[in-house]
Amino acid sequence: MPEGDTIYRTARTVQKAIGGKVVTAFETGLAKLAAVNDESPIVGRTVERVEARGKWCLIFFSGDLILVTHMLMSGSWHIYRVGERWKLPRRMMRVVVRASEASVFPTHARKDAHEWATQSSGAFEAVLFNAQIAEFHTARSLERSSQVSKLGPDVLSEGFSVEGGVRALRERAASHPEDEIGVVLLNQRVMAGLGNVYKSEVAFAAGVNPFRAMRTITEREMEALVEAAQRYMTANVAVGTSEQMVTYTGPRRTTRAMDHGARMWVYRRQGEECRRCGAAILMRKQGAQVRSTYWCPVCQP
Ligand SMILES: [Zn+2]
Repeated sequence: MPEGDTIYRTARTVQKAIGGKVVTAFETGLAKLAAVNDESPIVGRTVERVEARGKWCLIFFSGDLILVTHMLMSGSWHIYRVGERWKLPRRMMRVVVRASEASVFPTHARKDAHEWATQSSGAFEAVLFNAQIAEFHTARSLERSSQVSKLGPDVLSEGFSVEGGVRALRERAASHPEDEIGVVLLNQRVMAGLGNVYKSEVAFAAGVNPFRAMRTITEREMEALVEAAQRYMTANVAVGTSEQMVTYTGPRRTTRAMDHGARMWVYRRQGEECRRCGAAILMRKQGAQVRSTYWCPVCQP
């Protein structure tokens, strides 16, 4: 499942391609979306903005319409120039939003037709493949009925603070003292954005055993967990960084050509030596969703 940083990158890419532009074509294979489009067409609306909230991607159209999508395990948004060949087959397409600049033909362009052609070449299509959740909402229905409105503070949002994250963990500890911290880190209603990889990496960074109950986690440990979550995720969405997730960069910064495990402290490193103490990394399935959790028994007693 893509983690919050992947969705954040996706939203940024979609925003760059179609944000501020006018929709020139809309296609969907989903009956519910098609019905909304029949009632109140998407074509002609402006793409006001594209946002990530936790693992959700939201496209805001003018006229109070929001396309809310969740990638779950297999969904993805792709961006293509109009006419470019798609990388996935058409039968996997769920939604296409094609948009181009709204600008009217500028008077100065008559002097330089070539320059105008260059300026107006920004016609892109955002194509959603395989997503299992794609819904239209108004601002009100989003607030009222969607899971999006129930998300906890988003680790990658501008307004996120370590204090806010700690408050969310503290409240969870009070209401669900027996919850394991590894399960709580994945709970999007407590804090939004973290997925299974970051869960293990963040617990390692904080020196906290992921199977400990919330009631045993100290204030200082909560701070360390939230601080690591914010640091890792922010670093992984910095402009110019690779799309591969990195938490461990090693003695030399050689991120090139490293396999997945070589870029992590503990994730998928079961049986290998801890990079800090040399003990063998362990793995155990955790929680009702039986997600793999990796940890060092010495660094995270
Ligand atoms: Zn260790």
